[in-house]
Amino acid sequence: MSGLESLIHTGHDEPLPTKVLVIVAHPDDIDFGAAGTVATFVDHGVEVVYGLVTDGDAGEPAHYSPPELREFRHSEQTAAGAILGVTEIHWLGFHDGAVVADLDLRRAISRLIRQVKPDLVITQSPIRDLDRIYASHPDHLATGEAVTCAVYPDARNAHSFPELLHEGCEPHSVPRLWLMASTETNTYIDITDALDRKIEALLAHHSQNDARAETLPAMITEWAEANADRAGLAGRPVESFRSVNTE
Ligand SMILES: [Zn+2]
Repeated sequence: MSGLESLIHTGHDEPLPTKVLVIVAHPDDIDFGAAGTVATFVDHGVEVVYGLVTDGDAGEPAHYSPPELREFRHSEQTAAGAILGVTEIHWLGFHDGAVVADLDLRRAISRLIRQVKPDLVITQSPIRDLDRIYASHPDHLATGEAVTCAVYPDARNAHSFPELLHEGCEPHSVPRLWLMASTETNTYIDITDALDRKIEALLAHHSQNDARAETLPAMITEWAEANADRAGLAGRPVESFRSVNTE
């Protein structure tokens, strides 16, 4: 058993990934939902690439202009990625606060999937959780919906967005999709060795988290332990996902 296999807890057969593409709406979404998993993957030799749908230019603090926020948030996400060992980040350039799961977004995500060729895509849940309204930001739902459509069927179907073929982007089939912030989790990652780096990555998002830097480590630890209780792994920090078999 590889070290990584022992850290992935599921009730089903879950193939180990070799290349992972994480696609989210905003800078810091990856770090809240999956930084521990990203660090754990990288520790075990899995390549991880990020796709950011927006630049986070409608975030806090409100006294910064959108261009200033865009610049801060690019550099913060780059720093947070470096802490986890991720250096390849693709910015898709859609507007923060205005993401819709339309054909333009599905095309952009399909192009990225065809370029990166991952065997696992991680994204946000397209299903609203009425008990966790912050996790169900409209941009997150739209991103989750568009990524799910891109994983199946767009990226694998040569007839979807034929213009991508002309760009040299051949169809690519992603066999697994993991959803963050799902109400129906079935896959749990033990992030014991990565929790400190998850917190460090979150604190690298200074524009978003400096105001709560004192309380954030305890909050993240509490979330990770609540996930562990649901997974039956009490006492070990955990990140949880809904794994979807798309084959
Ligand atoms: Zn977000």
